[in-house]
Amino acid sequence: ARSSLKVLVTGAAGQIGYAIVPMIARGVMLGPDQPVILHLLDIEPAAEALNGVKMELIDAAFPLLKGVIATTDPIEACMGVNIAVMVGGFPRKEGMERKDVMSKNVSIYKAQASALEKHAAEDCKVLVIANPANTNALILKEFAPSIPEKNITCLTRLDHNRALGQISESLDVQVSDVKNVIIWGNHSSTQYPDVNHATVQTSSGEKPVRELVSDDKWLNAEFITTVQQRGAAVIKARKLSSALSAASAACDHIRDWVLGTPEGTWVSMGVYSDGSYGIQPGLVYSFPVTCEKGKWSIVQGLKIDDFSRAKMDATAKELVEEKSLAYSCLN
Ligand code: NDP
Repeated sequence: ARSSLKVLVTGAAGQIGYAIVPMIARGVMLGPDQPVILHLLDIEPAAEALNGVKMELIDAAFPLLKGVIATTDPIEACMGVNIAVMVGGFPRKEGMERKDVMSKNVSIYKAQASALEKHAAEDCKVLVIANPANTNALILKEFAPSIPEKNITCLTRLDHNRALGQISESLDVQVSDVKNVIIWGNHSSTQYPDVNHATVQTSSGEKPVRELVSDDKWLNAEFITTVQQRGAAVIKARKLSSALSAASAACDHIRDWVLGTPEGTWVSMGVYSDGSYGIQPGLVYSFPVTCEKGKWSIVQGLKIDDFSRAKMDATAKELVEEKSLAYSCLN
């Protein structure tokens, strides 16, 4: 039998946590043949709720689930984990300054970085979801220098999937026939959803989205803002932030990273920039990537027009500002 993989979920008593743990336990994240042990971490005020989640996981009798640890101790939570899904973070409350939220999250991610660095399995793969996701991932990287930088990523797959969904709705085609959209940059409203290389599988072969959607105005304006503002639209409708789609996207992110992307398909991931596409190294920035044998690589050689260039630079600029705000919180 295959040995179990240990998956850490932080903030596991929260909404995304509640949506993602059954997905992981059903094999949605790591495949239907891969047994898992869940390590659930939350903070002391959420300890009782966390224990309730553990009870439900036991009650669901998932065949792949070989164990559940529910704890408020970061060291116990990080011990030997192969995958770390960082959902826990300090939410921005009304009236709070950006700097105050940043400062809370910097201290959370600094502490969790040290626990992962000391106690996680070698080659642990990390996915940061809690906002500001890109910058939290950067802080984690800074304070876990022995974790290879390629192993620290943040989630922009939800934005990517939202872009696929909008194209599919607008053209009335199956979402599974749409591919190769790109989310560039920050998981924030400055992100740039780019359809210039996206295609749709039709009965007469693969066609560029730009050819099928005749309305350039829609693609260059409304499509982009709809994807950028989708999180806010879900909050308005549900009175809660998106959780099932975020959890599902997180499973997609890890699954593709570990098991590989299909031939000819790329996905978006927030990764440590190597300078590709003129994005300065030292930022966690969302790029188009393909994955093979547990490693991602940035898709190279895509043509970037002036419209895209300006939007890619604007979201990079926001990340530079977030980075300096985060560093100012360290002192
Ligand atoms: P959620 O489970 O709804 O969200 C968790 C985090 O994911 C938030 O930071 C949220 O950012 C972020 N996020 C990123 N992308 C998305 C997206 N597309 N849609 C929705 N959320 C997204 O929050 P809950 O408040 O329900 O749960 C948080 C848990 O974290 C709680 O159990 C709490 O106890 C724990 N926590 C842990 C802390 C720690 O580790 N020290 C500190 C504080 C809380 P955003 O806020 O911008 O929506």
